Amino acid sequence: MGYANGLLCPLGKQPLLSFGVISDVQYADIDDGSSFLGVPRYYRHSVSVLQRAVKKWNQEKPKFVLNFGDIVDGYCPKDQSMIAVKKIVDEFDKFNGTVYHMIGNHCLYNLPRKDLLPLLRIPGHDGHAYFDFSPIPEYRFVILDAYDISAIGWPEDHPNTLKALKVLQEKNPNSDKNSPSGLVGLARRFLMFNGGVGKDQLEWLDHVLQEATKLNQNVIVCCHLPLDPGASSLAALLWNYDEVMNVIHRYSCVKVCMGGHDHKGGQSVDSHGVHHRVLEAALECPPGTDSFGHIDAFDDRLLLFGTDRMKSTEMVFRH
Ligand SMILES: [Zn+2]
Repeated sequence: MGYANGLLCPLGKQPLLSFGVISDVQYADIDDGSSFLGVPRYYRHSVSVLQRAVKKWNQEKPKFVLNFGDIVDGYCPKDQSMIAVKKIVDEFDKFNGTVYHMIGNHCLYNLPRKDLLPLLRIPGHDGHAYFDFSPIPEYRFVILDAYDISAIGWPEDHPNTLKALKVLQEKNPNSDKNSPSGLVGLARRFLMFNGGVGKDQLEWLDHVLQEATKLNQNVIVCCHLPLDPGASSLAALLWNYDEVMNVIHRYSCVKVCMGGHDHKGGQSVDSHGVHHRVLEAALECPPGTDSFGHIDAFDDRLLLFGTDRMKSTEMVFRH
């Protein structure tokens, strides 16, 4: 693959693996608008970003593609949700390889889990969307379900809906649970458009990381919601990012955590040397510009080669 944007290939090394990345396409067949903070959103153009991404990936031939979620915007008229989700899945399917999808809040505003997960061919179980895969012996990818404990996506009387409503009731006194008004610092994350990882999923994560450690694998953890306050707006974090990171920090196999949701993007290295990279949204690309990339994985680092809004990043693993 090419080496652009000032990133250098580690001397004489070929990557073990390459994969494509994109986040927050948030397509809708509606006029352009802006976020709560006034950042422009280009709802129709985002499909063009995805189309250019797929074209590039088909030339570069990465082994697979990771989509970090939110493929259709919550403003998509409800009677068009199914059509819009299918349209975007069809665009992803033009990639000549496997696409692994994550679910985001905007996906769940449009379709309940029972309809969404089969459309995205998510290999979870019992309506959950967490899974792992090992494309080559040296690497394992762990995909977390950020809306496991959530007030959106599950049936209204589902135990996980009730648990989520209880969290919001306790942590957010606003009548609009999507409002961070009056919430300070890390407490700003307790918003309805975020969610949490449940106990079963945490135990599963622990088990997967044990296995990966035995196999001497590098692990990349992927989650729609960011997992480190240093890489994200505090209002975009996973509710129990701290519990998830406590599990991750028990092992040295996790090298990088990647996410979406916080459209401006971000990056950090946490106190245990784990890299965090939140990807810039496709939705916020002014017409004619892009935000997608591919990542080359080596034994000691990841190199992200981004286009336009997506910043290229070198992530050298701790020893
Ligand atoms: Zn989101």
